[in-house]
Amino acid sequence: MADRRTLRPAIGIDLGTTYSCVGVWQHDRVEIVANDQGNRTTPSCVAFAETQRFVGDAAKNQVTMNPINSIFDSKRLIGRRFSDPLVQSDINLWPFKVIEGSNDQPMIKVAYKGERRIFSAVEISSMKMRQATMDAGHIAGLKVMRILNEPTAAAIAYGIDKLGSSIRKRNVLIFDLGGGTADVSLLTIGGSEFKVKAVAGDTHLGGEDFDNRMVNHCVEVFKKKYKKDISGNAKAMRRLRTECERAKRVLSSALDTTIAVDALYEGIDFSSNITCSKFSELNMDFFKKSVKLVEKCLADAKLDKRSVHDVVLTGGSSRIPKVQQLLQEFFDGMELKRNLNPDEAVAYGASVQAAIMAGTGNERVQDIVLVDVIPLSFGVETDDGIMSLVIPRNTTSPTKMRRNYTTVKDNQTSILFAVYEGERTRAKDNYWLGEFRLSGIPAAPRGKITVVVSFDIDTNGILKVSAQESTTGVSQKITVTNDKARLPREEINRMIKDAENFKVEDEKYKKKAKAKGALEDYDYDLKSIVNDKEIRPTLS
Ligand code: AMP
Repeated sequence: MADRRTLRPAIGIDLGTTYSCVGVWQHDRVEIVANDQGNRTTPSCVAFAETQRFVGDAAKNQVTMNPINSIFDSKRLIGRRFSDPLVQSDINLWPFKVIEGSNDQPMIKVAYKGERRIFSAVEISSMKMRQATMDAGHIAGLKVMRILNEPTAAAIAYGIDKLGSSIRKRNVLIFDLGGGTADVSLLTIGGSEFKVKAVAGDTHLGGEDFDNRMVNHCVEVFKKKYKKDISGNAKAMRRLRTECERAKRVLSSALDTTIAVDALYEGIDFSSNITCSKFSELNMDFFKKSVKLVEKCLADAKLDKRSVHDVVLTGGSSRIPKVQQLLQEFFDGMELKRNLNPDEAVAYGASVQAAIMAGTGNERVQDIVLVDVIPLSFGVETDDGIMSLVIPRNTTSPTKMRRNYTTVKDNQTSILFAVYEGERTRAKDNYWLGEFRLSGIPAAPRGKITVVVSFDIDTNGILKVSAQESTTGVSQKITVTNDKARLPREEINRMIKDAENFKVEDEKYKKKAKAKGALEDYDYDLKSIVNDKEIRPTLS
């Protein structure tokens, strides 16, 4: 076995909506890597100036001076359409320009070195990531080994000191409320095992939303006081937003504070007092929404709230007293665990996982087994356009599951299998992962053929789909790797949310498709279908 001291260390990165953080396992512990300014977290911000591009702290400093070319929060655009109402409401509050690209894609427009440049949100995010990685440059090169769910990483940070065979299994709920997203995970931690039971999340719920509510409140106060609308002035809005975010942080440890900006608009100084309860009132619906995610996660994990041993807080916004109070009330007064550093826990846990994968950890760390779940369902499209589930969401990974399908036409000799990921009833509303055709099926009356479809997901999240006809053994398969076609967490959460929003529409479609299918079945001979549980695949 290689000496772990000679192995190249791996790093853990938390690429957050508002801040990013990098850690590395060294000297038998995680060390958080400070950036060139000496800070342990780096603002997720990129600024384009006349002559150069700034990243992190330097970029954040540009925000007030050069607001239209300083990009922050861009992670909130990933996986969303320009026409999405949430994108439109974000755009109204951002000083930089977001325009409609091809296929309804939101694109960010900036002026850089005298030229107009247009970037996608993913490009902007990758700039930050590269920079954060460059800060740790002498420690590691950039090879993404694994993407971890943020709360899973936080769970590792929380549980690392609690491992040991003598320790009884604990049900741990991780509540991660950050700048842009809210994520909840339910895990069991015991022995050396971290086992994720269920995850739930919202990609548009976090500190930025709370800031927006405060900004809007101040705009109204200004309007009332001075009869002037400042909402169209990018610079004023940005300065106000910075001040609101600061005030919000103060309100986590004080009962009231003042939001003050000199010469905010047309030379008018702005100053307004805000109490903690006013701040809570402005955001109560958001706070309640974050607790709803906990309910959903517990329901998915089929666990009663009384069976939860530890509720662990992480993410900068989990410091908000009202959020903590609502959560504590939900758990009937249980003491919440606040011992994780909310800004560093994800990078910390990711660094432990990186050490395990690189083989650089100590014995205690190397023994850790991480069992994660599949955050979205997998399935194939059937003839009626329905998504036929093969692996349901929140199934433990790795896993292998099978389902039988049959032909829809007499003498059909090939079947097209289209593979999707998502929660919507109609396949085309989900995320298309790939497709393949199974040919060489023997001619037979419709429904007489059985094709076994297997979905196999390995530890790295790589999905292999195969289909085999039972009598002849003819088979076909495809592999979907997680880095190319699979979805980032933001997209996953968005899709789950969409699925909930569109439930009514989906039900209608399902009923219609069923009614149509029943008629067709009647025209043929219903008994000729091999097994009534088996749904028909797409027509070739
Ligand atoms: P994260 O994404 O976990 O880095 O969280 C960043 C978010 O946490 C930002 O929206 C911050 O404004 C917010 N935040 C940080 N500290 C506090 C605090 N003391 N009170 C309320 N919100 C905070």
